[in-house]
Amino acid sequence: MALKESQRDPARAVFDQVVESGCGFSHDVGEGQTIRIVDLEGNQAVDTLFYDAHDRTDRYSAVDTIREQGNIYLTTGSRLISSEGNVLLTIVADTCGRHDTLGGACAAESNQVRYAIEKKFMHNCRDTFLLELAEHLAPMGKRDIPANINFFMNVPVTPDGGLRFEDGISAPGRYVELLAERDVTILISNCPQLNNPCNAYNPTPVRVLVWDA
Ligand SMILES: [Zn+2]
Repeated sequence: MALKESQRDPARAVFDQVVESGCGFSHDVGEGQTIRIVDLEGNQAVDTLFYDAHDRTDRYSAVDTIREQGNIYLTTGSRLISSEGNVLLTIVADTCGRHDTLGGACAAESNQVRYAIEKKFMHNCRDTFLLELAEHLAPMGKRDIPANINFFMNVPVTPDGGLRFEDGISAPGRYVELLAERDVTILISNCPQLNNPCNAYNPTPVRVLVWDA
């Protein structure tokens, strides 16, 4: 964990939008701009992907990011590496301290396997990603959804190598801030999950702000 606060003033942000739980969001962020995601009510999972804005086949790669930093969790100083080995963004502030790279996005299939067969048709992040791509980032589709980041989500690896979805370590108002190292597109599914204790079965809104260099 590397906790670090930011001095940036929300009143001077050039972009400021609340994303309700269950909603998708996408936005282009220019090189040198800084993006902040605020966990407004605490313990929300913010499923997030990044793409090179000019070549969206070059996208956030969990494998390359983990290998380069030698750590499965993200926090201040983490560099988000793309599938082509480029640095897309660097985390420059973080008041939560740990963000997941392994848990992936909830889906109809995982809802069914993880919770109950009748949960299959509940709203899920994978469908939100697909809807957001279709509405705003076509022709991107299924093949353009790699393993995502879960900001604010606590997914510890157990000593025997398993994954646990734990009660969150975030809290109302905690945030993560990322400097764009090149022009990037951010894609968010603000998780609608109602079956997971990591958000106390209560998905909540987040706020996205962007500052110029
Ligand atoms: Zn989800």
